[in-house]
Amino acid sequence: MSDSIIYDLVLTGGRVIDPESGMDAVRNVGISDGEVRAISVDALEGRDAVDATGKVVTAGFIDLHSHGQDSENYEVQARDGVTTALELEVGVGDVDEWYDDREGNTLTNFGASAGHIPVRMQVMNDPGAFLPVADAAHREASESELEEIKAGVERGLQRGALAVGFGLDYTRGCSRWEVLEIFRIAAKYEASCHVHLRGKGHKEPMSSIEATGEVIAASAISGAPLHIVHIQSTGMHATRQTLQMVAEAQERGLDVTTECYPYTAGMTAIDSALFDEGWQDKYGIDYDKLQWVDTGERLNASTFAQYRETGGMVIVHSTPEDAVNAAVLSPLTAIA
Ligand SMILES: [Zn+2]
Repeated sequence: MSDSIIYDLVLTGGRVIDPESGMDAVRNVGISDGEVRAISVDALEGRDAVDATGKVVTAGFIDLHSHGQDSENYEVQARDGVTTALELEVGVGDVDEWYDDREGNTLTNFGASAGHIPVRMQVMNDPGAFLPVADAAHREASESELEEIKAGVERGLQRGALAVGFGLDYTRGCSRWEVLEIFRIAAKYEASCHVHLRGKGHKEPMSSIEATGEVIAASAISGAPLHIVHIQSTGMHATRQTLQMVAEAQERGLDVTTECYPYTAGMTAIDSALFDEGWQDKYGIDYDKLQWVDTGERLNASTFAQYRETGGMVIVHSTPEDAVNAAVLSPLTAIA
């Protein structure tokens, strides 16, 4: 006991990990007035104490890729140590409304990007619930629509959006020029572009390699930082190559980063463009790798057709395990 300070709270015996200082050791932590005041091998005295033996004590995690932006999800996130949950991929169309809904009534910090998808859906009157199912998915924007989309994204950034989100595989009708135009707006606000790539897997045309090239080019041309989301689920058998492209872009001085999630299944809307003609070949899977969320059943040709008509969420067992391993082990990826 080095002094007679009594802290509000002491966490005893936890493995303290602090990436900033490089600390990774068993320590006692003294907290007062909501701030860490001491990290010590010595015993600390507190009005309250929590035995953290066998547990990790660290700063709150920031989840860059969190679509579940409601109180149920925030609670689960908090129990996992996530103190900031961000919706940066799909993002939101009306930034003010989204923040107003959450201000003062959430367990964790939250934030969202200005979403190219929801703004495009709004401008093109797409009836999709979360992801586009009609014009916003399949049609090129007219000149005036493009101006409206740009204005919508810019408004979001002016109203406090943290980044610009894209899901180019969901908005396949979006031209390369439209992508560049939105990147230019992001650059103006020094906002990063969080992109679900236009292409997936290793098969040309529109492989994940081609799609990675599209957005690295957009970043280089516009100056907007680029963050490629879930590189393993879009990279699939080309994940090692797309990771290499990210590393090489960084070596050239570009602000390009990426993330992955550490499992082999993803979830998305069955009525989205991801299941347009030819999906089996692109994913390298058949109906049996699709699992209906509501019932857990695996699909076949007829249930697939039925659910695609009604719409809803489907689990897609499509990411090769070696792609997940390559992404998780890569020093380039954040888990998100
Ligand atoms: Zn995605």
